[in-house]
Amino acid sequence: MERRGLQYFTLSEIEPRIWFMLTGCNFRCRGCFRPARDGGGVLLTAEETVERAERACMKCYGFLPDKAMITGGEPTISREYLLSLVSGLRERGFREIVLMTNGYAIGAHDGYADDLKNAGVTEIHLDIKAFSEEIHRWYTGKSSRYVLEAAKKIHEAGIDLLIQTIYIPNIVGEDEIEKIAAFIASIDDNIKYRINPFAPTFAYERVSRIPTIEEMERAYEVARKYLKNVIISRSCYREYPTPPPQRTWFTVYPDLSVKRRSMRDQNEERMRWLRRPVEKVIEDFNREVGWDYALRERILASESSAATAESTDAAESEAATATVRVRFSSALLHITEERETTLNLNGAGAARSGDTLFEVLSILAEKYGEPFRKRVFDGERVNDFVNISVNGRMVEDMRMHVKGGDEIIIMSVISGG
Ligand code: SF4
Repeated sequence: MERRGLQYFTLSEIEPRIWFMLTGCNFRCRGCFRPARDGGGVLLTAEETVERAERACMKCYGFLPDKAMITGGEPTISREYLLSLVSGLRERGFREIVLMTNGYAIGAHDGYADDLKNAGVTEIHLDIKAFSEEIHRWYTGKSSRYVLEAAKKIHEAGIDLLIQTIYIPNIVGEDEIEKIAAFIASIDDNIKYRINPFAPTFAYERVSRIPTIEEMERAYEVARKYLKNVIISRSCYREYPTPPPQRTWFTVYPDLSVKRRSMRDQNEERMRWLRRPVEKVIEDFNREVGWDYALRERILASESSAATAESTDAAESEAATATVRVRFSSALLHITEERETTLNLNGAGAARSGDTLFEVLSILAEKYGEPFRKRVFDGERVNDFVNISVNGRMVEDMRMHVKGGDEIIIMSVISGG
C-alpha cells in the first residue's frame, strides 16, 4: 500500500475547509517557495491520512467540513494513494474536493483525469509555469508537454478547471502569458485563468523581481483578449468570487498537535527553512532511512563490516579516494534491494573507467539490470519521474563529471511505496 509524506493540515478560520500538505514533488521550480517539495513529513497511507484529517477537523471545528484542498509538494505523484485519499474523503461526506497540481502526471498517464473525476475531485487548480518548452524546462526541470496535455484531459473529464501562472518579469512575461491564454482559449475560453506575481523573498532562487502593477495589468489585458474569466492577484480584478483574506488559521501536525498561525509565523518559518544549509537538505532526505527499520538494520550491519574491512586495509583506503557513494530513495528499493552502494572510479569495482554521471548510471544499470535503466534514464536523459543530486545539487546534465568523494542521490519521486 502506497504511503505519502504528510507535512501538516491547515484549517481555515473563515469557512470550514481543510488543506492537505503532502510532501515531495516531481518538479524543481527555481522560484518554488514550498518546503513541502523536498519530502519529509510523516509517511501515512491514504486511509491513515483521512483518519487523521477527520480527527484534526473534530479537534478544531467539532464537525467535519465538506470542503478539502489537496496540495503540496505535488499531490499527483502517487496515483493509487491520491485516488484512495479522494475516495476516502468522499465517503466521509466531503463534497468539494479541490486538487492543486502541476499537472505533469495527469498529462503523462492515460485515464488519470477520468479516475480523479470518478473518485470525487470536483475542481483542479493547474499551474502552467510557462508555455515555451525551453523556458518550462529551464524553470521546472521538466517538459511543458504533459502539463499542456493535462489541461485538455482535465477539461475533457468534466472537472472544473482553474489555470494559474506566475508572472516572472523577463522570464514569464506578457509574451508567455499571451501564448498560455491563447492555448487555454483553444480548449475553452470560459476556463478560469489567474495570474499571480512572482515573490522573490521566499523563492529557492531569486530569478527575477516582483512585477509592477502596470506589468500585471498589461498581462491581464493580454489574457483578456482570449479568455472571459481572468483575475490578477487578490486585490486587483475579480472576474469571479474569491474568499476574503484571513488573518490566522489552524495548523494541525500529523501527531494532531495544533498551532494557531498567522502570515507572520508562516513568513518566519519560510525564512528559517530557506536559510538551512545544504547539509540540512541532505539530512531531510536522510530521514527516510528511519522509515524502514528492517532495511536500516541491514544497512547498518553492512556499513559496519565495510568499516572494519576499510580500517584494516591501507590499500583500500587509498582506493576510497576515488570512491563515489550512490544512495537510492525508498521507491527504488524493489530494484536495487539496497539503500546505497559505492563505486570505485579507478576501475576496481567499476565496469569502466569513465567519470561522467552517465557512465556512473550505466555501471549501476549493469549491476541492477534493465529495470533500473528503464526507471532511471533513457539514453542520455534522466527520466521524468526521477531526480538526481550530486553533493546536494540537483543535476539534469548526464555529461556532468563526478569524482572520488562525491555523493550521488537518486530519487524516484513516486516515493514511500
Ligand atoms: S511544482 Fe514547482 S512550485 Fe510547485 S511544489 Fe513543485 S517545485 Fe514547488
